Amino acid sequence: MGAKDFTLEVTGSEEITPDFLRVHVRDGGLLERSGIHPTMWIRLWFNDSGKAHQRAYTLVNPDPATGTFSMDFAMHHGVAAHWASSAQPGEAIDATVQGSSFTFPEPAPRRIWVVGDPASIPAINSLLDERQRVAAGAAPVTAWLEYQHDADPSIEVRTADSDVVTWIPRKRDGAALVEEVCGALTANTVSVADDFFWVASEASSTRAIVKHLRKELGVDKHRIDALGYWRV
Ligand SMILES: Cc1cc2nc3c(=O)[nH]c(=O)nc-3n(C[C@H](O)[C@H](O)[C@H](O)COP(=O)(O)OP(=O)(O)OC[C@H]3O[C@@H](n4cnc5c(N)ncnc54)[C@H](O)[C@@H]3O)c2cc1C
Repeated sequence: MGAKDFTLEVTGSEEITPDFLRVHVRDGGLLERSGIHPTMWIRLWFNDSGKAHQRAYTLVNPDPATGTFSMDFAMHHGVAAHWASSAQPGEAIDATVQGSSFTFPEPAPRRIWVVGDPASIPAINSLLDERQRVAAGAAPVTAWLEYQHDADPSIEVRTADSDVVTWIPRKRDGAALVEEVCGALTANTVSVADDFFWVASEASSTRAIVKHLRKELGVDKHRIDALGYWRV
């Protein structure tokens, strides 16, 4: 195990919705050693029939004082989701801290545009929380969240009164989300020089939205933080 590798211990789990499960862990020294930043994610290692699979998950409610955090699993058929559904207190899982970084843009953006889905809600909430603490606090958020399960829109998104969140059902392999977002992000609504864009949805949808921002609107890449969180 290297300096960035940790063994987490499951302490319990909690159903947020039938398709969104929170797993609580002891951090094995991770938070003290690595620090915390908004949208912080780790690589979890899952064993499936002797083969190791790595999957990214976002820290929820990290607390260095107690050495604990949680992770929210958007459920589907995959090794990570299956592991979460059966994780028992006392169970260990290996994690690596590598590749995660984020700093809020300075000066504070005029508006923050966000695109995501349940897999990126933990990161979006950490962004919203951080916004209250830094100068970006004044920037309203406009967010589009794609969903596949009826209960998804009940998942907490920690918005302020100035924010707007629109839930879009996943249709036509994500094309419905891409059309809605790209139709709303135009030269009339966006300030290319002053706005910030955070995009973390399915990989091909993420690519299409970033292409629209860069090619159609001419947004500088430094004003965009985008990563495909999962792929079909
Ligand atoms: C930086 C980062 C942070 C992330 N943080 C989180 C997080 O906090 N919570 C979270 O739930 N996910 C998060 N994800 C997404 C997660 O890593 C992927 O969804 C991962 O593929 C799940 O692995 P799996 O083994 O369960 O499914 P896989 O074996 O990868 O896929 C199995 C099947 O499920 C489908 N699938 C996979 N993920 C999803 C999904 N999210 N929605 C619908 N269908 C899916 C695939 O298309 C495939 O058909 C994050 C991803 C990144 C890059």
